[in-house]
This record gives sequence, structure tokens and C-alpha cells, in this order.
Amino acid sequence: MITIDMALDFVLEYQLFGEIWILSDSRSVVQFLDYWRDVSDRRGMNIFDKRKTLCNSCVLYLQWIPSHVNSKYNDIADGLAKEAHSWYRSEGPGATIHFKGDKKDQTALARIASGHLKTLRFSRGDKKFNICTKCNMIEATPQHLLDCAALVYDDLLKRSDFVLEVMKANDLIDLI
Ligand SMILES: [Zn+2]
Repeated sequence: MITIDMALDFVLEYQLFGEIWILSDSRSVVQFLDYWRDVSDRRGMNIFDKRKTLCNSCVLYLQWIPSHVNSKYNDIADGLAKEAHSWYRSEGPGATIHFKGDKKDQTALARIASGHLKTLRFSRGDKKFNICTKCNMIEATPQHLLDCAALVYDDLLKRSDFVLEVMKANDLIDLI
């Protein structure tokens, strides 16, 4: 449960938005938080306060994953968590994406930033992206989409509306 609290802190600190999944292998914690009504429990209270704050900027999912039943999902979750983390860390602490667009655009930006594109699939544990529709040669990873559109990660942080414009102009938005 402390981990969930820390995950929410991370989300708040980096002002993530869009769809956010918090995965936990502790079923009791997820159930406890789903039905939580006890105002005397301080950590439970903290988590609920943060969830309330976050409701304004993103959709938060709390998902239980049984660790002993299928460890593959845990590996995938670990992989995604690490990748999302490294993307955000690459600009150092304090880098945040500010964007006041509509929800669909916000989601698209969140997908590029998190590396979790909707075309992302898993094949035998390996990540597979669709082939980029602009160059028709290379897998459309978030990094490649930026490269192929002659953008850099910094644009995502400082000129996110411009990034969306370029992605749309290049018909790459469907891959995001
Ligand atoms: Zn390309």
C-alpha cells in the first residue's frame, strides 16, 4: 500500500495525465482501497485525497494482478513501468508536460511520453509496434515517431501542441 501511495506521489510530482494504471499484486490492498471508508486510517486517507486531486487531470485505474498466476503480466508491467520512468527521467527531475488541449490530444501526448502507444502489442514477451506509416521501414516506437517527424523529446515537453500538429500533418497520429 505504501508503494501505491508512492506511485500516486510520482504521478502528482510529474503531473502525468491521460490514462494511468497502477498495478498491484496485492489483492487485499486493491480491494481495501476500493471499499475504503475508514477516515481514521491516515494512509488510506492520503491515497484517497490524492485520487480525488488526480481525478481532474487523468483517469486513474487501480488494477490487481495476481503475481503467482501469470508472472508474464508482471514482467510486462515491470517493463512498462521502467520504460515510462526512464522517459520521464531523461529530462531530469522537474520536467513536466503542460498542455491544455482537449482530452483526446492529452491522451495522445501521454501515450508518446509513456511509450505506451495504442499500437503496442506483445509477442512472446517482446514489444511490437506497427511499422511507421511515414517511412514504411521502421517500427513506430515513440522515439522513432519523433525522429521520423524531425522532432526531439524536448519538443514534447516544451512545445507539445506543436508536436501534435506535426504528428497530425504527417498522418502519424493514428499510430499514437
Ligand atoms: Zn518512420
